[in-house]
Amino acid sequence: MSIKDKYPKTIADFYILAKKKYGIILAITASKLEGEELKLVNKAKKRKKDKYDDHEDDVNDSEEDSSDSEKLKNQYKKYIQDQPVTKIHPDLYAFDNNTHYILVMRFSQYPYITIQRHPTNFKSVKIICQRTIGENEKKDILRFLRGFDYLDYSLTNNLNRQLKDLVLEVDFKEEVEEIITNGMNITCEIQPIMSGIPDKDDATKHSHRKDFINNTNCSFCSILIKSGEERHVCSECNNVILCPQCFLLPESNSVHTDSAPLPHFSSLETRTDDEYFVSNKSDTTYQCFINAFKCFPKRRCLGIRSIIPKSNDNPLGFGEYEWISYQDVYNRSEIFGTALSKLVPRESMIGVMLNNTPEWFYIDFGCLFYGYTIVPINHFINSREFIGVINNCQPSVMIVTESSLVKLVDILNKYNGLNMIIYVGNNPDPHLRKQIPYNITFKIFSEILNQYKDCKIAPHNPLNNGVLSLVYSSGSTGTPKGIIIKDKDFLASLLDYKLGYPCIQLSFLSLSHLERRADLKMIYNGGRLGIYTLPKRDYFINDVACLRPTIMWAPPSIWNEFYTKYQQSMNSLRTLYPQFKTSEIEQIMFPEFRKLLGDRIDSLTTGGALISEEVISMMRRCWGADKVFNIYGSTEAMIVSVNDIMLNQIQYRIIPLQEIIKEGLATENPIPIGELVVKSDQNVVGYYRNKEDTEKSFKDGWFHMGDLVEEYEPRKIRILDRIKNSFKSSTGLFICLEKIENYYYKSPFIRHIFVYGDPYHSYLIAIIVPSEKALSSFDTNLKMDLNQNKSLLEAIESEIQLISEEKQIIVYETPKVIHLDNTIWTNENNLINGSGKFNRPALKQYYLDLIDKIYKEKQNQSIDLLQ
Ligand SMILES: [Zn+2]
Ligand SMILES: [Zn+2]
Repeated sequence: MSIKDKYPKTIADFYILAKKKYGIILAITASKLEGEELKLVNKAKKRKKDKYDDHEDDVNDSEEDSSDSEKLKNQYKKYIQDQPVTKIHPDLYAFDNNTHYILVMRFSQYPYITIQRHPTNFKSVKIICQRTIGENEKKDILRFLRGFDYLDYSLTNNLNRQLKDLVLEVDFKEEVEEIITNGMNITCEIQPIMSGIPDKDDATKHSHRKDFINNTNCSFCSILIKSGEERHVCSECNNVILCPQCFLLPESNSVHTDSAPLPHFSSLETRTDDEYFVSNKSDTTYQCFINAFKCFPKRRCLGIRSIIPKSNDNPLGFGEYEWISYQDVYNRSEIFGTALSKLVPRESMIGVMLNNTPEWFYIDFGCLFYGYTIVPINHFINSREFIGVINNCQPSVMIVTESSLVKLVDILNKYNGLNMIIYVGNNPDPHLRKQIPYNITFKIFSEILNQYKDCKIAPHNPLNNGVLSLVYSSGSTGTPKGIIIKDKDFLASLLDYKLGYPCIQLSFLSLSHLERRADLKMIYNGGRLGIYTLPKRDYFINDVACLRPTIMWAPPSIWNEFYTKYQQSMNSLRTLYPQFKTSEIEQIMFPEFRKLLGDRIDSLTTGGALISEEVISMMRRCWGADKVFNIYGSTEAMIVSVNDIMLNQIQYRIIPLQEIIKEGLATENPIPIGELVVKSDQNVVGYYRNKEDTEKSFKDGWFHMGDLVEEYEPRKIRILDRIKNSFKSSTGLFICLEKIENYYYKSPFIRHIFVYGDPYHSYLIAIIVPSEKALSSFDTNLKMDLNQNKSLLEAIESEIQLISEEKQIIVYETPKVIHLDNTIWTNENNLINGSGKFNRPALKQYYLDLIDKIYKEKQNQSIDLLQ
């Protein structure tokens, strides 16, 4: 059989063959090929033509047309059945047939090209052209694909990098090459060249695994290591895998690439990461984790830093991370879960109020294995909110630490459903213990583990599609909103994409929020988590330098601090090299600057609040644009957009606000502005025992994000502010306070800024906490009354003016009164909440008296503030 015969000539043939060969459905187009589908398209075109132009009956194939999704849907009816077709670009449509995500692109000078991928493994990208393409065309297409950011955002995070690698490496298979050389006008296939592409027969048997890497090569002797065969996988280097023979040879040390001191820790395994990711998948969260624990027993899971004597070299007294293996985490979780199953009825609510510690994870998995619902409660919560939360979720057990026990004891008389308190730590305060009523059992976590470690492990008894967790949204007022997290919600974030190995992350944000999802995703992927050592921010950098994470999630407040550091270095270097341009100084400075986060960062993510353009563009210049992701979402809807681009699976609408309509802005402004509402499978079902808020936020499957957005390009969304931070000022303009604050973080003199405005006053007030730099430049400190320091005040006022001019901030949006304050916002004073965001309701409360006073004073002074 000649090569020619192996390839189909018509689309119908191609479809049948592809389906047989790969067990997948392809979307294919009819352009320039003969066959049934071509006629179908022609008919559709003809019908349209007939309607408008009776004279025209000769239908031209190459004509620019069919940008209409209904028509496209008709065209592919046979293949996509009734799947929704999303238009994501005039030349790009997407279908999702549940097993494969399919994109159909239309190039102006090329025929249709389809790209399809397995939804969870991007390595299975295949590009199929519907006709022969030449060398130059190929280059053009690749160039086009590389610049095609539509692909990037459907994949999120470090998959982008994989895509880029992949497209760069894309090449023709030998036999296809021959066809091209022979100039045959038939379908060709472009497949990425990867090591160990599985052979076709195997692929037919396990079609879902077809493009996964299931064979690999020893990094030292290159011998093929097949699926199921033993190999040692390095936990530091990217893709360093040794066969058992080479592993024993001292010479094999030469293959390690990471800068960690040798020997590197390796774990003995039998499958590739791709295989693990797929085979560990299950339709329950419980089973996914069980699979992960079974597959990675030797891998490092959780790390805490060792304590060493303080010295000049090590003033903090913390040494390297010491690691707890997956096996040990699993065992301890099982012991704890067994104990719980003997002490507490299944399906009870378990409140957890802890810092990030290994115990947190044992509790989390113990509850998952034995059927309990975890309710994480941020330990910075205030008493009023705490009482609300605890009465809403009604836990029978509370797990606390030294600081949270104080809070719990304080409110025990406001809730009577508690049966047990479990204390994590040593030596609980006897005075506090005395205040606990007799009907509440008090236990110490380490004692439970000791007591049950030799007992028979109880059989697992996970919840069957139950509520795995309730997550309370922070800083809200009124009835607490406990977001119901079910199995499917957890699965969505575990399985959305695969993380490359090694993946290492610092667990430092409160586990009562997004950090927990991110951390659990690491564990499902076989990665490891270094747990932060001390609650002091100064030590955070020290932890990061020690851990050298590959992935970093942080809210804007952390990145703002990096930006302040950047500005300080920039200023001092500028005096050294006055002749250099900013970009040249950055060249000098960035290598050192990057080291602040270790030297193996793969992806940096910001989210949870607005970040200013200066900060994120500095991050992109420093760490590389392809590594920085600005995500937007909520616990209720999960990730909705990445780098402003709405994810493909999200349907959305923008509902104009009444105020905007009244002001006529909606009609004058061609850009849609309004509240974002979204719909997708990722949406949670609602709030626990809170019908009112559930009905308000979830309507017919649409979730109201509560944010004001503008759609500046199709599917590109800019977040302006929380709707509740926005208001119509007395001058009739719509003002977004958080957006305004973000402009001014550019100034090196500003540590924190809180801008206040309301509909009753015609101008805004800014409360500013000056930066270290500002304080030292003006020879003052936070103990002084800063407003008395006229030169400091003037300097900051002129910063505000300068930035306002530079950013062309309209006059009503520029704060007219600047007041300096000496309170640093922290978790402890509740001005920053557990997820690291500025706690706006608390800030408002905190500064309200001051703000009232300022408005009153200014009124008396009758200053013309509006010029
Ligand atoms: Zn070898
Ligand atoms: Zn290594």
